[in-house]
Amino acid sequence: MSNQLSDRINSLVPSATLEMAAKARELRAEGKDVIGLSLGEPDFNTPDYIKEAAKQAIDDNYNSYTPVDGYVELKDAVITKFNRDNGLTYDRSQIVVSTGAKQALYNVAQACLNQGDEVILPCPYWVSYSDIVKLTGGVPVEVPTSIESDFKMTPERLEAAITPKTKMLWYSSPCNPSGSIYGREELRALADVLQKHPQIVVVSDEIYEHINYGVTQHASMASFEDMYHRTVTVNGVAKAFAMTGWRIGYIGAPSYIARACNKLQGQVTSGANCIAQRAVITALLESPDRVKYMVDEFKNRRKLILSLLNEIEGFECNGPEGAFYVFPDISAFFGKELNGKTITNASDFAMYLLEYANVATVTGDAFGNGNGIRISYAASEEQIREAISRIKAAVT
Ligand SMILES: *Cc1c(COP(=O)(O)O)cnc(C)c1O
Repeated sequence: MSNQLSDRINSLVPSATLEMAAKARELRAEGKDVIGLSLGEPDFNTPDYIKEAAKQAIDDNYNSYTPVDGYVELKDAVITKFNRDNGLTYDRSQIVVSTGAKQALYNVAQACLNQGDEVILPCPYWVSYSDIVKLTGGVPVEVPTSIESDFKMTPERLEAAITPKTKMLWYSSPCNPSGSIYGREELRALADVLQKHPQIVVVSDEIYEHINYGVTQHASMASFEDMYHRTVTVNGVAKAFAMTGWRIGYIGAPSYIARACNKLQGQVTSGANCIAQRAVITALLESPDRVKYMVDEFKNRRKLILSLLNEIEGFECNGPEGAFYVFPDISAFFGKELNGKTITNASDFAMYLLEYANVATVTGDAFGNGNGIRISYAASEEQIREAISRIKAAVT
């Protein structure tokens, strides 16, 4: 039988981060000691007080279908969280709980984009944005940034990227993969540009909000009165609470967008998992200080990995202010030969590191920036030391 797949699925690129993890597993199966710094997930367990809430939910027989947009108690917890942490006021009609922030993003894209609508993505962007946009008929418009602007999009660059077809702007802050954070004034400057283009809806992905090393304070686009009515604030528990596998994310949005996401979700997945939702009520209502020990640990590892990487000639790093990644510019290696392998791009370089240093990273091409690679430091200090020393040996 010939290939009966849709054009849509044929044009979809597999998630580069998951693909790298699969290659690393293959090498491990061959007996190689591969250090995985490619996946974006905390190497901590979910805190006990959250696990207890899940156990209790099982005993309390939370086993039926859940409301499509989330339990009322969870929506109220989300409302409390937005108010407490972000100064944002939402009512229940503006909240939708989904199976991870990833589904929340997909819902919003499906809800807002028509064929050919343009979505501005400052590069580097989170790996799935461009494929989610493409899958829903939209056209990603990549806006390059560089290490000189700390990988942040300037108002001038935003202005230049806007066309009559621009429908949305998507960004994450703190940014995966660069660790950059847009401060309040920087967001205001972008909002000033958007003032002239009232048709543009903003998706502000704030999933790393709490993983912030204290240089720039977190700010939400929706906290500007003139942006509130056209901003979708996306968040979730995967990163801050070490709950990647629980699959709960949520949005605070204008009611008409929330209603559309609810309608879509009702036909596709229904409400998110019952036990996970109950556990997340506890996660959100308890003080964020209870998970600060993880941030403190990431902070130490950040310092360590930056000092080790800065010793390697050809690696140029910005100072990531949040999340748990570094995104070094490694373009100095392009055109060079390492162990008989010619490095022409970031994908070659990441593959070279996997084969010759047995360290898994992710090519910057997957994030719309072909000069860098993403290295996750959600790993033990011992693993970080060993990995970076192997990388150094492989490239010098
Ligand atoms: C991990 C991640 C997500 C997806 O979160 P889930 O809740 O696991 O679906 C979304 N955006 C960014 C920037 C991420 O790093």
